[in-house]
Amino acid sequence: MIIAHLFVKTIVRHVLTHRRPMPPVSNSVLPATHEHYDFAIIGMGIGGLTLGALLANAGHKVIIFEQHYVPGGYGHTFRQGRFSFCAELHYVWDCGPGERVYQMLAKLGLEKQVTFHRLDSNGFDRIVAPGIDYTIGSGFERECQRLSVLFPVHAGNLKRYFEIVTSLHKQLYDLPIGFS
Ligand SMILES: Cc1cc2nc3c(=O)[nH]c(=O)nc-3n(C[C@H](O)[C@H](O)[C@H](O)COP(=O)(O)OP(=O)(O)OC[C@H]3O[C@@H](n4cnc5c(N)ncnc54)[C@H](O)[C@@H]3O)c2cc1C
Repeated sequence: MIIAHLFVKTIVRHVLTHRRPMPPVSNSVLPATHEHYDFAIIGMGIGGLTLGALLANAGHKVIIFEQHYVPGGYGHTFRQGRFSFCAELHYVWDCGPGERVYQMLAKLGLEKQVTFHRLDSNGFDRIVAPGIDYTIGSGFERECQRLSVLFPVHAGNLKRYFEIVTSLHKQLYDLPIGFS
């Protein structure tokens, strides 16, 4: 299981420690200040926080606005009693050494603070429904085979589906995005 919560929290802390001092403000009032910012970002999701951290790290003065009372967007975690829930974001891919998320964290000097647990490739999510008890594992080919055993009548469609997903996956990874 990936620690998306820690990921968001550490970036929030990073943005906060790199901002210039601001007077305390109430939650409902915008800061009455004539200070100028280089960048204003709407939304403290993982996108806004990451961008804010990268810009602040590069020496820019950044302000981020958030409508919710907690930062993190889909990446935040909330508690209900003794249980902790991920709002949406559960797994983070591409976070091994040298991979894209890792590179971004390294650029912010956070790669040692934000660490990840590898998902169990044999199964990290379990679907239980009438007549079905399926544990989702890693690897398109392997999952296609396992699902085809479970739903033999759909084997052809599953094969086509995984071919499309594999092709999309490759095209996304071929996009010229990087953190150099
Ligand atoms: C069910 C589900 C499961 C997912 N699981 C995964 C997963 O396992 N792994 C993965 O990598 N991705 C997953 N995703 C996708 C991932 O959650 C999103 O891609 C990612 O969190 C988006 O981040 P973001 O910063 O772009 O936007 P958001 O997380 O949506 O953040 C936007 C922020 O902006 C704020 N905001 C919006 N409008 C305003 C405004 N006008 N003023 C002030 N604040 C504003 C919002 O309150 C929010 O905090 C999942 C998505 C869903 C829906």
